[in-house]
This record gives sequence, structure tokens and C-alpha cells, in this order.
Amino acid sequence: MNFDYSDDEKAGFAAFERLCRDKIAPRAAELDRSDYDKAVAILRGSFRALAEFGYLGLGHSEEHGGSGKPLVEGVVYMEELGRACAATFLSTGASMGLCGGPIKAFGTPEQKTRWLPALISGQAVGCLGLTEPGCGTDLSAIKTRARRDGGGWVLDGSKTLITNAPICDAAVVLAKIGTADNDEETGMFIVERGTAGFSTGKPFAKMGYHGSPTGELFFEECRVPAEALLGDAGDGFAQAMGVLQHGRAGISAGAVGLAQACLDEAVKYARDRQAFGRPISKYQEVSHKLADMKMLIDTGRLMTRHAAWLADTENPDAGVMASCAKVFTTEAAVKCASWAVQIHGGYGYLSEYPVERLYRDAKLGEIGEGTNEIQRVLIARDCLARWGA
Ligand SMILES: Cc1cc2nc3c(=O)[nH]c(=O)nc-3n(C[C@H](O)[C@H](O)[C@H](O)COP(=O)(O)OP(=O)(O)OC[C@H]3O[C@@H](n4cnc5c(N)ncnc54)[C@H](O)[C@@H]3O)c2cc1C
Repeated sequence: MNFDYSDDEKAGFAAFERLCRDKIAPRAAELDRSDYDKAVAILRGSFRALAEFGYLGLGHSEEHGGSGKPLVEGVVYMEELGRACAATFLSTGASMGLCGGPIKAFGTPEQKTRWLPALISGQAVGCLGLTEPGCGTDLSAIKTRARRDGGGWVLDGSKTLITNAPICDAAVVLAKIGTADNDEETGMFIVERGTAGFSTGKPFAKMGYHGSPTGELFFEECRVPAEALLGDAGDGFAQAMGVLQHGRAGISAGAVGLAQACLDEAVKYARDRQAFGRPISKYQEVSHKLADMKMLIDTGRLMTRHAAWLADTENPDAGVMASCAKVFTTEAAVKCASWAVQIHGGYGYLSEYPVERLYRDAKLGEIGEGTNEIQRVLIARDCLARWGA
């Protein structure tokens, strides 16, 4: 394992850092506070800028407009975007990774040609619909059904808490396809906005990530052609687990970026703010928080890059390391955000300071894409399988 990136790679990272610093970060607070229409306009502008840079096609093949970069390189870009604006990171990740990822992995050449160039160029926005009103962690309990009808399928059901749902052009959706006698079979379908019987709900009001719209997907007698099915009928659940596992290194990178933003803000404030005639950074209680943040961030960064490298090399440990990185980095981000607010004292509680937004945004990492409780279940299961005999 060698994380000494080449000069070309470092030049790419530096160019992306400039884009994030000049174009994305300056609008993060505005994105957070704007009403829905304005926020969507800002977000779409960021999608375009990121597409132009090539960010939306990082892991996708050149044939479809991507750059085919390995994940170990991709996570460096993702961290930078997470540092600049968590909401933009989340929405682009849902479109390029959660929606584009399964199309890339399981799609037919026609499905890839139809959707990947559009997602990679930012002309289309995608989402992934797994969670339902009655279940999120336990996806075996989903109620959305697809029944065979003539040459195609008819979908009925709903999805909730879906990133990008209100603005999506395409949704990849998990549904049961079994009969009443055999309820276990599942499939993933690509459903296009405009399909009769497919609609989306209003965006939810939520604690953080205000700039990334979250909502519902509804399917009522929604007829889709046979070509809407991704891969083989029956593979849906395994496909969904694969997508989530692959995505965990990305979520970890975003969490490291968010934690780094907390440290950036905390250092600036601790240097400037005076108490008892000295900068507060001179007090050990403050400076030790900075040191602890630095250690959490660097450890999380290493775990993320390690998990990405394992995924790139198709190492069997990739899944468990992605879970470890996801838990560690998202909990580190919550701690760093809390300490950054604490270092700001009362001002940290005001919306005027970025740490207030970072504190609200940090929490989602512990919940999304497989809660940290269920990650610990998976990690412990792996330990027991290795060393339990
Ligand atoms: C802003 C936002 C964006 C989201 N984006 C998407 C998206 O794009 N696509 C999508 O499909 N979903 C999305 N989600 C949904 C998210 O993935 C789910 O909220 C998450 O998987 C948890 O599911 P749940 O909310 O149903 O909680 P539940 O599954 O009901 O869990 C509730 C609590 O019980 C715990 N728990 C449940 N089962 C176990 C167990 N076996 N062992 C130990 N603890 C357990 C959980 O860890 C949690 O603490 C999003 C959510 C939010 C808030």
C-alpha cells in the first residue's frame, strides 16, 4: 500500500482544491440558508462546475465521459468536496455513486449509454431508493413490489428519506419481485421521471444538509419496460448491499472533509479570540482539543484510503474495512464538530459561523448508508468469523 500520490495526481488534487475553495465553499452557507428554489439553483450550478472539472465522472469509464480513476484517488477529491460543502458532497454522491454506481456495475450497454453520460455531465440528477416508511436498516421488509406484466413490470409502493428525490431525473429503486408464496426475490429498477405512475413528494424540512433535497418516491401502477430491470431478476438485494459497501469509503471521505473543515475553523478562531489578555489557543484546554481533532482526522483519512485501496485491489477485507472507516470517521466528524462549536463559545451557536452548520450536518454520517449500529454488527460478525473458532 503506497499513498504517495504521483505528481500528476497531486496536481489534480491541487486544481480541485482551488475549485472547491473558489466556487463551492463560498456558497455553502448560502446554500444552507436559501429557500428551496434558490438552493436547487445553487446546487445545479455546483453540479455543472463539478461536472466540468470531471468530478462527477471520477470512477466512471472514459467511454461514458468519466476519467476511470481508482477509488484511492477518488476519496481525496471527495474529502475536498466534503470539506468545502457537505450538502453538495451528499447530493453529488447520491447522483454519481448511489444512482450511477449500480448502473455502471450492473447495467446493460444500453442502460449505461442512456444514463451515465447524462449523470456524469450533470445534465441529469440521480437518486437511489432503498429506504421505505416502514424500514431502512431491515431492507428485507420492503413493501414496494414489481410484478411482471406482459413484456415489462408494474411497480407499486413508496420510498422515503431519499437524497435528491425532489429533483431526480432517474431513480434506481429496490423492489420485491417475488410472488405471495415466495416473498424473497428482489430486483433493482431504473425509473425515469415522467413515467406514468411515478411521482416525487415535497422536500422534507430537516436538521442539516439543507442544500441537499430529501424526499419521497411514489409508484402507483407504474409501468416500466423489461429494460428497466438492472442485471438479473433476483439480484436486487445483493446489488443494493454492494452499492452501499462501495459507497462507504466515499461517505468516510466526506466525513473526514467535514471534520477537517471543523479543524480549519477552530484553528482560525482559537488564534484570533482573546480571553484574559491572550489568544484562547494558548490555553491547554483549547489547544488539546485541536490536537485531538488532528489525530482523529489523520487516522480517519488513513482508514479511508486503506478501505479504498482494498476496494480497488478487490481484497476480501474491503467490506469490513469500509465499515470500520465509516463508523470511525463519521463519529470523529461529530466529535470534531462539537469541539469546534465549543472552541467558538457562544458564537459557535450562531448561524453566522460555519461551525453551527457543520455541527448540524455532521450527525447524518452516523445514520445514513447503514447506521453505525449495523456497521458494528457487521464488523463484530467479521471478527467472530475470523477468530471465533
Ligand atoms: C438526510 C437523509 C438522506 C438519506 N438518503 C437516503 C437515500 O438517498 N437513499 C435511501 O435509500 N435512504 C436514504 N436515507 C435513509 C437512511 O439510509 C436510513 O434512515 C437509515 O438506513 C436508517 O434506517 P431507518 O431510518 O429506517 O432506521 P431504522 O432501521 O428504523 O433504525 C432505527 C434505529 O434502530 C437501530 N437498529 C435497527 N436495526 C438494528 C439491528 N439489527 N441492530 C442494532 N441496531 C439496529 C438503528 O441503528 C437505528 O439506531 C437518508 C436519510 C436521511 C436522514
